[in-house]
Amino acid sequence: MEISTRAQKLEPSVTLAAAAKANALKAQGKDILSLTVGEPDFATPKNIQQAAIRAIESGKASYYTPSAGIPQLREAVVQHIETYYQLQYQPKNVIVTDGAKFALYLLFQAVLNLGDEVIIPVPYWVSYGEQVKLAEGVPVFITGAQENEFKVTVDQLEAARTNKTKMLILNSPSNPTGMIYSEEELRSIGEWAVANNILIVADDIYGRLVYNGATFTPIASLSEAIRQQTIIINGVSKSYAMTGWRIGYAVGDETIISAMNDIASQSTSNPTAVSQYAAVEALLGEQETVETMRQAFEERLNTIYPQFAALPGFKLQKPHGAFYLFPNIKETLDLCGYTDVTRWVDDLLEEAQVALVTGAGFGAPENVRISYATDLATLEEAIKRIAAFIEQKS
Ligand code: PLP
Repeated sequence: MEISTRAQKLEPSVTLAAAAKANALKAQGKDILSLTVGEPDFATPKNIQQAAIRAIESGKASYYTPSAGIPQLREAVVQHIETYYQLQYQPKNVIVTDGAKFALYLLFQAVLNLGDEVIIPVPYWVSYGEQVKLAEGVPVFITGAQENEFKVTVDQLEAARTNKTKMLILNSPSNPTGMIYSEEELRSIGEWAVANNILIVADDIYGRLVYNGATFTPIASLSEAIRQQTIIINGVSKSYAMTGWRIGYAVGDETIISAMNDIASQSTSNPTAVSQYAAVEALLGEQETVETMRQAFEERLNTIYPQFAALPGFKLQKPHGAFYLFPNIKETLDLCGYTDVTRWVDDLLEEAQVALVTGAGFGAPENVRISYATDLATLEEAIKRIAAFIEQKS
């Protein structure tokens, strides 16, 4: 049986593929240092684990839930957004989903028609373009200048706008660059979106992971008009070390949320019940562990950034959030006698047992993505191995 053209055209996730390759080699007993995955290495905080155990033991996690999520969790999201965004929503403006990734999937399915254009700043998170294509939309990529910390400007957005432009995706702090849009930049982008009736998809998943005094400004908080033009995407995966629990959410216009819910009701039915009870505790319970984890990421960033920046040919700016470095390694390739990042990354894995992700899947084929969501000892050993690999090839 031939598979659909839709599936044939799909690029599988490069980050998941790189992580799977590293894990397969580890399983063969190889001493692989994997800096591939975008997930905290911490265990989910104890209070959240306990809430899940209670939900199982009381029996309430045994059943289907409403497809938009249990009322307590939709209410918890409302409260969380009120605390961190100073914005008032109602539970009907919230849908809980199987990870933020599925919130995005539902959103594109609910809003896009054949040929609708979605502006996606480059470098981008690997799934945006592929999910837009699955909804028969057209991704329109515009590249942020490295001198402008890879951020796009209103002039660039305006140049990319056509009468088919329906959405703009903003991811600040960004995966993979870790850069953050300032309030001023967001305000002008927000006003441009309002003036042109373009829906802003604010992927705020790294909003609480910002470092060295940087601040995260939610674009939805900048004016009532911008708020109405924005769908917030967020979730518990990154800030609460809950990637495996698969809980995300979308917040915004009731009509859009309700259409997303209709699609969810006919596809997944509901996010896993036990994870939803755990997520209530994550959002409303004590928040100290979030700060402890944030500080650990900050310490790692401050320790390893200068060491990566000192590697021959590595060109990178210091990120302000998320947990990735995204160096351009063109000069390193020249030094090592390579023309292609993928070959270099493959050989690094094969010969130095360090796994990185190539930048091509993020729209930046001269870069590599390095996740520092792993302990310092592993990171420092990886830097040593990369330095030795470059030395040996030069
Ligand atoms: N958005 C961005 C920018 C991400 O990096 C990720 C995960 O890597 C997600 C969304 C999805 O997160 P999850 O589905 O685990 O909630």
